[in-house]
Amino acid sequence: QTVFVTGATGFIAQHVVNELLKNGYTVIGTARSETKSQPLIKLFKEKYPNGNLSFVIVEDISTESAFDDVLINNKSITNVIHTASPFSYGIDKSLEDAYLNPAVNGTLNILNAIYKYAPQVENVIITSSFAALKQYGNEYTTHIHTNESWNPINWENDVKTENDGYSASKTYAEKAARKFMIQQDPKPNFKLTTVNPPYVFGPQCFDDYVSNKLNTSNEVLNNITKIDPSNNEPQVVFGALAIDVRDVAKFHVLPLSNENLQSERIFLTSGPVTAQNVLNIMNESCDPLKGKIAIGDPSKTNEIIEQNCPKYDLSNLKSIIGDYEFINLEESIVDVFDQYYKVNSV
Ligand code: NDP
Repeated sequence: QTVFVTGATGFIAQHVVNELLKNGYTVIGTARSETKSQPLIKLFKEKYPNGNLSFVIVEDISTESAFDDVLINNKSITNVIHTASPFSYGIDKSLEDAYLNPAVNGTLNILNAIYKYAPQVENVIITSSFAALKQYGNEYTTHIHTNESWNPINWENDVKTENDGYSASKTYAEKAARKFMIQQDPKPNFKLTTVNPPYVFGPQCFDDYVSNKLNTSNEVLNNITKIDPSNNEPQVVFGALAIDVRDVAKFHVLPLSNENLQSERIFLTSGPVTAQNVLNIMNESCDPLKGKIAIGDPSKTNEIIEQNCPKYDLSNLKSIIGDYEFINLEESIVDVFDQYYKVNSV
C-alpha cells in the first residue's frame, strides 16, 4: 500500500514516515525543496535499507492545485496523511497569510485533488490539534474536553496574537475538511479521520535534526530549563496537555488498518503539563540538568495542575482501542534531553 504524506520533513511527520516504513508501507512524502528531502532519504535508507520512500516537491501547500500532479501521476496512492500546516512563530507576514490561509487552503487543496484525481484513496488522515477543541477563559480549565469539543474562536473577533492565529487556523482547517465531506455530491470515496494532539513532545526521529533550538513544541521544554535557577516560586508558566510524538505517529498510522478508528476524531493525551511538573521531572530524571535548573515549588504541583490545565475525558478513544498505555511525560522529557545533550554540549 502506498501512503502519501504531506509535510514529511516535519517533526511529527518524520515519526509518521518512520512508523509507516517500519510497517512495510510504501511512502511518498512532500518536501518544500530537495535540500530538505535529500538528507531524510539518506537517513531513512540507512535505517530501513528495504524501505520504499520517495519525495515530491510541493513548495507551498496553499498554492491552488499544489497536489494535483502527485495524485494524477501516482495511482498507487491509497491513503493520504496530511500533516503540513504552519507551526512556527515569528513569521513575517499577516496572521492570515502566516497561519489561516496555508492551513485552510492546504487542507482544501489536498481534499480536492484526492476527490478529483484519486478515487482509489480509501483513507485521509489529517493532523488537526487540541487547538481545534480547546475552550477559552474559565472554560479552559473547567470544561471537560472530549473529542466532541470545538474551539469557539472567531477569526474576526478573537484573533490578536500568533498563538490565536495558529489555534484558529487549526480550527478553521478542520471545520473546512469536515464541511467538505458533507458538501461534496457525490460523496467522497474516502473516510476522513483527524488526529487532535495537544503539545507534542519527544525526541526527533534523527539526531541530525537536533540543534540548540528545538522544534516549536519541544522548545517549550527547552525554555523551562532557562527559568532562573534560584526561582523557588510555584511554576505556573503554562498549563496544557501533553502527548509523546511516537504515540501521535502511531495514531496516524493505526487508522489505515483499524477500521474502528476510521472517520474518528482522535483526541489523545498522556496528561497535564505545566512548568512545575516539567521541572520536577527534569530535576529527578535528567542527569545533565540536575542542580542547574530552577526547582520551583514541587509541593504545589497538584494544585498548579488543577488550576491551570484543561480537564479531559478520553473514554471515546478508550472504547475503541481498549487500555492503550501512552508514553508518559517523564519518558518524553528524558528522551528529549538525552538526545539534546548527545548533540549539544552541557
Ligand atoms: P513542523 O513545523 O515540524 O512541521 C510542519 C511541516 O509542514 C513542515 O514540514 C513544514 O515545512 C510544512 N509546511 C508548513 N507550511 C507549509 C506550506 N505553506 N507549504 C508547504 N509545507 C508547509 O511542525 P510539527 O511537526 O510540530 O507539526 C505538524 C502538524 O502537527 C501541523 O499540522 C501542526 O499544526 C500539528 N500539531 C502539532 C503539535 C505540536 O505540538 N508539535 C500539536 C498539535 C498539532 P517547512 O519546515 O519546510 O516549513
